[in-house]
Amino acid sequence: MADTLVDPTVVPLQRRLVTEIPGPKSRALQERRSAAVSNGVSSALPVYIERAHGAIIVDVDGNAFLDLGAGIGVTTIGHTDDAVVAAARAQLGEVIHTLFTITPYEEYVRVAELLAAHTPGSFAKKSVLVNSGAEAVENGVKIARKYTGRGGVAVLEHAYHGRTNLTMAMNFKAMPYSLGYGPFAGDVYRAPNSYPLHDGLSGADAAARTIAYLEKTVGASDLACLVVEPIQGEGGFVVPADGYLPALQEWCTANGIVFIADEIQSGMARTGAYFASEHLGLVPDLVLIAKGIAGGLPLAAVTGRAEIMDASQPGGLGGTFGGNPVACAAAIAVFDRIESDGLLAEAARIEGTLKTGLLALQAKYPIIAEVRGIGAMLAVELLDPSTHAPRADAVAAIAAAAAQQGVIVLTAGTYGNVLRFLPSLAITDVQLADALSVLDACFAAL
Ligand code: PMP
Repeated sequence: MADTLVDPTVVPLQRRLVTEIPGPKSRALQERRSAAVSNGVSSALPVYIERAHGAIIVDVDGNAFLDLGAGIGVTTIGHTDDAVVAAARAQLGEVIHTLFTITPYEEYVRVAELLAAHTPGSFAKKSVLVNSGAEAVENGVKIARKYTGRGGVAVLEHAYHGRTNLTMAMNFKAMPYSLGYGPFAGDVYRAPNSYPLHDGLSGADAAARTIAYLEKTVGASDLACLVVEPIQGEGGFVVPADGYLPALQEWCTANGIVFIADEIQSGMARTGAYFASEHLGLVPDLVLIAKGIAGGLPLAAVTGRAEIMDASQPGGLGGTFGGNPVACAAAIAVFDRIESDGLLAEAARIEGTLKTGLLALQAKYPIIAEVRGIGAMLAVELLDPSTHAPRADAVAAIAAAAAQQGVIVLTAGTYGNVLRFLPSLAITDVQLADALSVLDACFAAL
């Protein structure tokens, strides 16, 4: 094991606390930040990070945290993955930017080829590369509108799609995402979804409810697209009842509505498949991809049926930084790592270890109403055992207590009562066992 007390440039393999949290250097940075950074940008944990590797991040005070969030599911194959670093470094010395819409380069084309090969469906596919998840959502909607000649956009309750103007209108939760930022984009319709813990509906019944709602309030023929997260991310890792999304997809297909899977959080090997759609029996017309695609560099994509992607006029899609060569080189390395090193199996390993551990906690602590998720995308929802009221207070207390012990866990859920786990696929079983023991102590102390 690396001895970081000897060499401070090496990231340790275990959590290690050397100061109070946050430490003095982080507190000093927090003061500078308060004077210079907008209050609209918040941070869950004000520790300032200096370096990171694998599943460990190290702050400016020398504290090492076990990271169960991976920057909200971005460093899926691990922080500063060696192959990603090497590919990005090599690309930096060759070409950093030309703008694909002026003078193109191979790396963009290669990423599009890899996306076509690894997204669900064996039909001809094409892609556009952009910079962020929200931009991918914006483009997916734009492309579907152009293809169908319709305006309506359907989304689901508890959805999260971003912070741009259109995506704010697509989110479920007003606070903090849209409150005070209107007016919002129109022609967006929010339908009830499937949330088995709370609605108790079968997939077929939940789908019938969603479809009836959309037919009544919009009319299928006015809808350009339905945008769904196969596993809802910010909404609390809501896994829909079996058959729910396939039934919606079937209805979309029958009515000429483009079925768009927002796989921004659930995609890129996170669930043990390249895309969560595969677990749920979905073959989306368009897939939205971001977060984990480039090992931490900003890159996003819309990939889908060639005829839909080609409906746009030349020049209608793109942007200055979209498909940046360095980000593309990193993405190629990510695909290569997933393929050559069998990383899909790592997500299944993590599910085995972490879900088993979380289920053991559920058996001990009745506040854990449900353990859910697939692969390295797992969550627990906390409800009061007698009233079934959401326990956001307990989630906040556990996340804060875990951080004090050097374990970073993220929260989620419309009611803030979900702890979500998005560790990198590099996390070891030893690290997971350590994290579980910290969580156990945090639940015990509640
Ligand atoms: N869709 C989903 C499902 C997401 O989880 C996110 C980010 N949390 C977004 C869209 C927006 O992505 P970005 O923050 O890169 O704009």
